[in-house]
Formats: sequence, structure tokens, C-alpha cells
Amino acid sequence: MAAADDLNVFREEARQWLNDNFPSSLANQRPPGIAGFGAKLSGDWKAWQERLGEKGWSTPTWPAEYGGGGLTPEQAGVLAKTMREIGAISPIGGFGTMMWGPTLLDVGTEEQKQRYLPDIIRGNLHWCQGYSEPGAGSDLANLQSFAEDKGDHFLLNGSKVWTSGALEADWMYGVFRTDKSNKYQGISFLTLDMKSAGVEVKPIVLISGQSPFNEVFFTDVVVPKENLIGEKNLGWDIGKRLLLHERQSIAGSSGDDDVVGGSYDIEQVAKDYIGMDGDKLADGAMRERIAEQKMFAHAYALTGRRFSDEAAVSGPSAAVGILKVAWAKDNQNREEMLIEMLGNRGLGWEGDGFKESEIKTVRTWLRSKANSIEGGTTEINLNLVAKRVLGLKGY
Ligand SMILES: Cc1cc2nc3c(=O)[nH]c(=O)nc-3n(C[C@H](O)[C@H](O)[C@H](O)COP(=O)(O)OP(=O)(O)OC[C@H]3O[C@@H](n4cnc5c(N)ncnc54)[C@H](O)[C@@H]3O)c2cc1C
Repeated sequence: MAAADDLNVFREEARQWLNDNFPSSLANQRPPGIAGFGAKLSGDWKAWQERLGEKGWSTPTWPAEYGGGGLTPEQAGVLAKTMREIGAISPIGGFGTMMWGPTLLDVGTEEQKQRYLPDIIRGNLHWCQGYSEPGAGSDLANLQSFAEDKGDHFLLNGSKVWTSGALEADWMYGVFRTDKSNKYQGISFLTLDMKSAGVEVKPIVLISGQSPFNEVFFTDVVVPKENLIGEKNLGWDIGKRLLLHERQSIAGSSGDDDVVGGSYDIEQVAKDYIGMDGDKLADGAMRERIAEQKMFAHAYALTGRRFSDEAAVSGPSAAVGILKVAWAKDNQNREEMLIEMLGNRGLGWEGDGFKESEIKTVRTWLRSKANSIEGGTTEINLNLVAKRVLGLKGY
């Protein structure tokens, strides 16, 4: 059978399965939270999570032997499109599916893959990422949290910061110092149970009153030796590989024009708040900026899709830093435009005087400021692209 015929057969199979398993009540609904990222779902969302996880289509291209979908990138593309057509969104995600699972597939032992992957695929466990420390952000290899080798276990002391979702997390993966005399070759990649004695999580309260980040303190935490991923003192390369997957997933998650446009219909916001002059937007300059943004978003979506397809075959490359920088720039640009369109309605933070959508726009605009910091700052990504992609010296 020709490849195109194969894909048509798969398209029918996917349609049928979705028809039988996707609750129609959830069509075009966004999940109330993400399983695998702290949310405990209920009702139809829980049923959808269980069915999707059982089928392995929450991670379509992961090997079937660990519970993944076992699909080819082409089939995964067909599945994604078929899900979009009926407004079916996966409620399973988070650090596990985005970066930790893909890294484990690259470097984990058979036993480690069997141990961790099935729960990631089903969204049963929530993972957090223990990388940044007070003195180790961009210069991550400066990390000091020390996991002392005690023979049959490591004894961990130190702290992490900006740990997203640590309060809800079941487990942490991260990079920890195991040799104080060697900066890069003295780092190991470990997992740890967040319920271990000696782990303390302190939420960092933001201006919004929310606490998406935390400080995590370790005092004499016993980490079993079996939680070491890769070899002792050789975790730096694993840590860096995970960051490539992180950037790839940030870039790939936006590989769809609809998603790049955010959850707002930017043209509709413009019409509502700026108004129309006949069949044209009344503000000519904003009209031009919207056209530019949409062209950029479309080009970005196509490039993001190409990067995702290539990564599915040969793994993520350092070039994904280009996409991460472009994603942050586009997202921040779009949020700025939305705030400008709102005029003085874009001053609302809370209270009855503003619509819910206006308050949400303001909060999302402020959140977008972090886009050029999270997943590696724009400056650091540009440095990496200069060094690893363009081969420029002196960076
Ligand atoms: C929304 C969000 C979620 C996050 N979630 C997590 C998480 O779950 N787990 C985790 O471990 N961390 C997380 N972080 C932390 C994040 O990884 C760091 O904030 C980031 O790596 C930058 O480190 P820093 O904040 O220490 O800034 P610094 O490294 O101190 O950088 C400060 C400024 O200096 C610039 N700079 C630094 N070095 C250079 C250089 N060599 N050349 C040019 N410019 C440079 C940077 O670009 C930046 O503008 C999160 C951050 C954000 C914003």
C-alpha cells in the first residue's frame, strides 16, 4: 500500500477512535488544568485523560512498549489535525511529556524507562524541574546543591529557586553537584520523591497573588542510588539535552496558526476596541501591525512544524534556540498590541469596572514578560545560536 493510502487508513482509525472516546461535551473546551502539571481532573475530563493515556496518544510518537502511541511523525500529524477538527485538546502535559520523558527516551536505561514513562504518558505523576539556584540561572553549571555520595545513597543539601509547580509536584528531576572540584564534570542528574523527608517547598507569591514558582530546600534528603540518570558526575550533558527538548517543546507547542494567535482573536479585539471605518479597521497603523504579526505568526507556525518534524526523526538541535527567541518576541509583541488596542480598558487589574476578558488580557500581558526569561533567556539563546549554529568565535 502506498504511504498516502496508509495515512488515509490511519486517519479513519483516528476518527473512529476519537468518535468513540472523546466526550463531545469537551469539544473546543480548554482543560481546567493539565494532568501531569498539578491538576486532578474529574468528570468527563478525567475520563478523557484516562482513555487518551491508555491509548498512548497523549505522547503519539513515543514507543508503544512504554505505553506511548508508537505512531510515525506523519501519523502523529494526522492525529493532531483530526483532533483539531473536532476541537479535542489533550489534558495531559507538563514537564514530564514536554522534556523529561523525551530526555529519558534518549539517555535512560531500559529499567528507568519502564519505571517512569508509563505514568508520564497517563498524566498520573506531576514532575517539577530542579535546575535554577540563587547563584545559578544563566550560568547553570554554577549550581551548588550538593548530593554527597554515601555509598548506597546520596545525601542532598542545598536549594533550588523558581521551581514551577513544585508545590503540587510528586517528583522532581534536576541537576545537582556531586563533585565540588569540577564545575562541569561534577554535576549529576537525579530524580527525587518530593515527599522525601527533608524537602521543604516555599511558594513565591507574585503581584497577582498567585504562586506558580517556589523555593525548594533540601536538608539531608536521602536520594537512592537508583535515582541517578546516566553516570555520576556526567549529568551536565543530560541536563543540557533536556533544555533542548524544553525549547523544542515551547517552539513546537506553537506550531499551529491558531495557537500562535493565542487564545484571543486579535482582529476581533481590534474591531471591538478600535472600531471600523467602513470595512477597514479605523487605525491604519494598527491595521499594518496586525498584518505583520499575522504574517510572522504564519511563517513561525510553518517553521515550528518543520522543526518538530525534524526533531521527531533526529532529536532537537541547538538551532531550536532561534525558534525560542522568535516565539518570545512574537508572543510579547502580540500582547503589547492587545494592550494598546484596549486603550484605558487595558489598565484593569481587578474589580467590577472591567470585563473579565480585559483583566485577563492585562494579566496575560504581564505574564508574557517572562517569555524571554523562561527556558533560557533570549540573550543566552542568542549566544548559543552564535556559537553552536553559526560557529562564531568569541561567544
Ligand atoms: C516563567 C518562568 C518559569 C521558570 N521555571 C523554572 C523551573 O521550573 N525550574 C527551574 O529550575 N528554573 C525555572 N525558571 C528559572 C529560569 O530558568 C531562569 O530565570 C533563567 O535561566 C535566567 O536565570 P536568572 O533568573 O538567574 O537570571 P540571570 O542568569 O541572573 O540573568 C540576568 C540577565 O543577565 C543576562 N545574562 C546572563 N548571562 C549572560 C551572558 N553570558 N551573556 C548575555 N547576557 C547574559 C540574562 O539574559 C538576563 O537578562 C523559570 C523562570 C521563569 C521566568
